[in-house]
Amino acid sequence: MTMAVGSTPPACHRISEVSAPYGPWLRFEQTSRWNLWRTGRRFLARLMDVNRTSHRLAAIAPSATLAVDSKAKALQAAGENVIGFGAGEPDFPTPAHIVEAAVAACHDPKNHKYTPAGGLPDLKEAIAAKTLRDSGYQVKASQVLVTNGGKHAVFTAFAVLCDPGDEVICPAPYWTTYPEAITLAGGTPVVIDTSDETGFKVTVEQLEAARTDRTKVLLFVSPDNPSGAVYTPAEVTAIGQWAVERGVWVVTDEIYEHLTYGPHEFSSMPTLVPDIAEQCIVVNGVAKTYAMTGWRVGWMIGPDDVMKAANNFQSHATSNVANVAQRAALAAVSGGLDDVAMMRAAFERRGAIMHKMLSEIPGVTCIEPQGAFYCFPNVSGLLGRDLGGATAGSTLELADLVLEQIKVAFVPGEAFGAPGYARLSFALGDDDLVEGITRLADLVSA
Ligand code: PMP
Repeated sequence: MTMAVGSTPPACHRISEVSAPYGPWLRFEQTSRWNLWRTGRRFLARLMDVNRTSHRLAAIAPSATLAVDSKAKALQAAGENVIGFGAGEPDFPTPAHIVEAAVAACHDPKNHKYTPAGGLPDLKEAIAAKTLRDSGYQVKASQVLVTNGGKHAVFTAFAVLCDPGDEVICPAPYWTTYPEAITLAGGTPVVIDTSDETGFKVTVEQLEAARTDRTKVLLFVSPDNPSGAVYTPAEVTAIGQWAVERGVWVVTDEIYEHLTYGPHEFSSMPTLVPDIAEQCIVVNGVAKTYAMTGWRVGWMIGPDDVMKAANNFQSHATSNVANVAQRAALAAVSGGLDDVAMMRAAFERRGAIMHKMLSEIPGVTCIEPQGAFYCFPNVSGLLGRDLGGATAGSTLELADLVLEQIKVAFVPGEAFGAPGYARLSFALGDDDLVEGITRLADLVSA
C-alpha cells in the first residue's frame, strides 16, 4: 500500500490490504458511515439472535456421547444412583509408572517452556518405534505429529486433506466426531450405511458404489467405535488395495488397536498394503490403550508433505501439547504392555457378560463385540412398547426414557448415524455393569 507523505498510518490493517485492488473499498470501510452501519447491524443481529456465530460453527451438533455422559454425571451429582454406559473411557487409573513420569516432568523446568509445536523429539521417536512394534509399520519420527488427543489428530487429518467439495466416505455407524470434523474442514461426509446383518462392515462393492470423481478420502476404523467390529486382514487388504487403485486417501483410526477379543486381531492397513503409505494418515493415541483419556495425547502419522502442512497448522493453532502429558505418553508408549494386557482381559470378560445379558432381553439382539469396549445392540424391538408406563418412538427417546426411569445412561444410535441401535460401553466395573443391564432387563419384562 502506498501512503501520501505526511498522512497518518491506519490504526489497523487487514491482511487483504496488501492487495492494491481493494484500496478504495478499504477507504470506504474506514468512514464513519460504514462503522455506523456495522454497529447497527451487530445490534440488530444481537437483538434477533442471528448471525452471532459463523455458519460453519453454528452447524455443528454437540458431541452426543459427551452430552449423555454429562447428563448422567449431573444426575449422579444430584445424588441419583446412575449407571453410566455412555462414556468411552476405561475405568482404570493410568498405570503408576506413567503417572510417576509425569510427576518427575513437573519438577523439571525444561518442561515449563514451549517445545517444538509438533511434539517432543523423544516422544516422536518413541511413537515411531511403537508403531513398528505394534503394527509392523515403519515410519520416520519426522512423520509423526503429537496432537491434543486422537480427536485433534482426526480434525487435523481432515483439515490437511479436504478442500470444499471434497467427499469423504464415512461408513455408518460412525464415531460421532467424524462427520463434524469432515464438515468443519470443508469436506462433505458421504455416509454408507451398514447393519448388524453384515457385522457393521463395509465392503469394496459398497465403497465403489459410493465413489464419485470428488471422492478424496475414506475414513476407516478398526476396531470400530461404536460397533465393536474388527475387520479381518483380508478385508483390510481388499479395502486398502481398492483405495490405492482408485487414488483415494485413507484416514485410518487405530486408537483401539490393543483392544481385540477372542480370535479377532488388529491389522494395520499401511502394513498390509504398503503402497498406500503415500496416501494414508494413521490416527492413534494413548487414551484407550493406557487409560489416559484425560491426558490428551494423540498423534497422526502421514507422508512428508502432509505432515509439513499439519505441523504448520498446529504451530498456529495450538503449539505443543502440554509437555508433562507428553512425558507421560513417552513413558506409556516406550514401556511394556503388561498393564494393557490386564485391562484388555478385564474388558474382554465384561464384554462377554454384557453381550450375554443383553441378548437375553426380549426385543434386543446383539452381535458379539470383537474389539474396542462397546456393545452395539439392536434395540428397535423395544420401540413402541410399554416400558414402565411410557413408550419410546425412537432410540433417542428410549435413551431419555431409560435414564429417567431406571437411571441407566447409554448413547442412542442416532448419535452414530444408526437409529434403532444403542451404544453401551463396557469399560466400567463388573458390579455396575451387571446392575445396569439387570435394571434394563427388569424394565423390559415389568
Ligand atoms: N477415535 C475413536 C474411534 C474414538 O472412539 C475416540 C474417543 N472416543 C478417539 C478417536 C479420540 O480419542 P482421544 O481424543 O480421547 O484421544
